[in-house]
Amino acid sequence: MYYDLFYYFVLSDFTGETQEIDDMSDLQRQIDTIVQEKFLRYVKVWTTSEPELAPKKTPSTACQWDLIKILEQELKDLGVPEVYLDEKGYLIGRIPARGKEGLSGLGFMAHVDTASDAPGKDVKPQIHKNWQGEVIKLTGDVTLDPQDIPDMKDFVGETLISSDGTTLLGADDKAGIAEIMTAVEVLMKTPGIQHGPIEVVFTPDEETGCGMDRFPVKELKSKFCFTLDGGREGELELECYNAWRVDLEFSGNVIHPGYARGKLVNAVTMASEFVSMLPRSESPEATDGRYGNYWPHAIEGNLDKAKVTVMIRDFDAEGGKRRLEAVQTFAKAVEASFPGGKVAVTEKMQYSNMKEELDKHPELEPLMLRAYEKAAVIPLVKPIRGGTDGSKLTAMGVPTPNIFAGGFNFHSVREWVPVKSMVKAVNVVLSLVEIWAEE
Ligand SMILES: [Zn+2]
Repeated sequence: MYYDLFYYFVLSDFTGETQEIDDMSDLQRQIDTIVQEKFLRYVKVWTTSEPELAPKKTPSTACQWDLIKILEQELKDLGVPEVYLDEKGYLIGRIPARGKEGLSGLGFMAHVDTASDAPGKDVKPQIHKNWQGEVIKLTGDVTLDPQDIPDMKDFVGETLISSDGTTLLGADDKAGIAEIMTAVEVLMKTPGIQHGPIEVVFTPDEETGCGMDRFPVKELKSKFCFTLDGGREGELELECYNAWRVDLEFSGNVIHPGYARGKLVNAVTMASEFVSMLPRSESPEATDGRYGNYWPHAIEGNLDKAKVTVMIRDFDAEGGKRRLEAVQTFAKAVEASFPGGKVAVTEKMQYSNMKEELDKHPELEPLMLRAYEKAAVIPLVKPIRGGTDGSKLTAMGVPTPNIFAGGFNFHSVREWVPVKSMVKAVNVVLSLVEIWAEE
């Protein structure tokens, strides 16, 4: 019976007997209730991370501990026998194999922090049940309007969750956390399910780009890991950008403007000259699909010194290197046209496209496609125009593609998530566990 019970959770192609359909929908309803309850609880915990502090300190903000501790306790309460938490806030729950002891492990990962781009404190989630396609008014002129957000039209009749319009919602990535924790609850409360070793991993500071800098990769035993950190239902991401950050420092020569002729070298002018050389046709706002880009990310300065940060993104490493060379060339050109001025350039690779590593494990994509099929999810395989902690974990030796978490409009006060998509993500996790145990 337990064996069948598990099938009710995950089978889309059930045999059609009335009894099974009833049981399945009942269990799907339970998942629906559990994932909503967890999600609504987690989003109320303030976990905004701080990019400026993250290079020096993990977690960058103390508030992230609040959710980390809640998750630690919840794993213990669910009976997860091994719970690892280190002083940096990396939390790993280990569920030992049951009936499939020889199998290598699978991991599921999500991040506790939310982006600092929009307020993340005092989130008041709003539940829009049986949404009928109308404009959802949040606060002031903040609305969720299906005219502006065409994706909404795919979810008429569903329950949508948003913030009250004054904060972000935090579906990025608390939807991912709720989905993983729901899967843990199902696995722990259904003792008959046979599976290999499972790890669940919760990390701080993903949004700062520094989330994996101090990750205790030796603690991770899984052969493959999956982040639940994607957007709309169906997304399946095995490829991301190669990313570089270039910091330029322009040094001028300061002299009183009244005596400046032939002597003053203005660092502000140097920096702006440099910025104007970056081709706008290769900016994020001018590119999509598989096209790479670069853009001036930050600028500050005065007559004496000016600093510019440039970000470079490309799926193809060669394309990225071409832009790195272009930045160097523009910097030299500026230096040459401002005699007496100096330009110092520092390059840093931030993360690399995980595709090359993932391609070494050709069984991974078919495994994921089977799990999506079993969970009745149509896969949307696409490259991430960004990076995830999964790409960094892949570089550390644990291949980690990305699964959807279900939300939309991340990092904004218009963030929203359909509950149905969260349920589907739970089913994908359970399907992966099941199919892996069959292999
Ligand atoms: Zn995220």
